[in-house]
Amino acid sequence: MALLNVDAALQILLEQAQAAADLETELLSLDSAENRVLAEPLLAQFAMPPWPNSSMDGYAVRSAEVQAGQVLPVSQKIFAGHSPEPLTEGTCARIFTGAPMPEGADAVEMQENTEELDDGTVRFAQAVRAAKFVRPKGQEALPGDEILPAGIRLGPIELAMAASMGCAQVKVRRQFRVAVISTGDELVEPGQPLAPGQIYNSNRTLLIQCLKRLGCAIVDMGILPDDIQLTRNRLAELQGVDLMLSSGGVSVGEADYLGQVLREEGELDFWKLALKPGKPFTLGRYQGVPVIGLPGNPTSSLVTFLILARPYILTRMGVSDPLAQSFVVPVNFAMPVAGVRREFIRVSLVDGRAEKLDNQCSGVLRSATQSHGLLELPENTTCEVGDYLRFWPFSSLLN
Ligand code: AMP
Ligand code: MG
Repeated sequence: MALLNVDAALQILLEQAQAAADLETELLSLDSAENRVLAEPLLAQFAMPPWPNSSMDGYAVRSAEVQAGQVLPVSQKIFAGHSPEPLTEGTCARIFTGAPMPEGADAVEMQENTEELDDGTVRFAQAVRAAKFVRPKGQEALPGDEILPAGIRLGPIELAMAASMGCAQVKVRRQFRVAVISTGDELVEPGQPLAPGQIYNSNRTLLIQCLKRLGCAIVDMGILPDDIQLTRNRLAELQGVDLMLSSGGVSVGEADYLGQVLREEGELDFWKLALKPGKPFTLGRYQGVPVIGLPGNPTSSLVTFLILARPYILTRMGVSDPLAQSFVVPVNFAMPVAGVRREFIRVSLVDGRAEKLDNQCSGVLRSATQSHGLLELPENTTCEVGDYLRFWPFSSLLN
């Protein structure tokens, strides 16, 4: 069986995700909408700001009236949140940051360039050019402008943008629901004693926490023992999810019961990916629900989740740009022997250069905790010190 290229695998996943039905929408308050996906563009309903206003504490003037050394009486004080009178000719108005410009005024001089005289008049140190320190009406947006596009994830900045436009609620996609399954007779949940041959289940925590960061709702299906009947029973209980995500039991081992049930009662595609770590990967369907099966080794689970499952899930969620941010960095190590699989190497960034963590075994999670992200070494490629390679920071992959 030929190895499947990572780009080809991603393309299949993204096509399937795009072809799946859109999630329903709901209206949520801004405080509840963090990390949700905007379902329709948000359009400006009015000019923002709605009126020209001052960007400084100072004096609003008619700029043509102000030469160096000019003295003007103060005809009014304008605080933020208050509506001014038109500016009387031959006067200035005390004004504070964010306060509306009075009609007739076309500039603001900051108070540092002025002097308040004993009689309450103000002397200007220099001439003032028109529009100085004035934030024009509509500087941020004009009515009808698209201020947020559909298909973005709402973070603090986007929600603040919606708030600034007066939106109390936003139309978002409903939460994506994922059932998380850990397979393997050897698995025990933390807190329980370990019998000989057993290990603690770390993929459950890994995948649930990654999914939570994407804003998914989780149905924890716990540990599926390597037993055909128990696997059938457990899967039959499942309903109301958009995706089943399993780890382990997808290689070609004998105890691949999840795969067997999917083959019998649904569909199953088994891929050998040209990816290291993370060669085995399955894509299936059970009672109409898509199933993604990740390999069991902890770092294989991590890498296949981040590189393949994450963009698939974000696309299903309605996100239009599902790939994490990445950039190229110089590497501080050599990989003199080219591999046939694309490798995602655990690296830390030291002064902007990628250093390889010593232990790159797929069964080892500890080196991932010590790294800042994954460095992508393309298949059939070597690298030398100073070469530039693509770096995927965990801070964006886990976001
Ligand atoms: P498998 O893909 O089931 O053949 O598992 C590959 C390796 O990953 C084995 O060493 C398993 O013990 C280990 N493994 C599988 N599932 C988990 C899990 N949920 N947590 C930690 N290790 C796991
Ligand atoms: Mg197993």
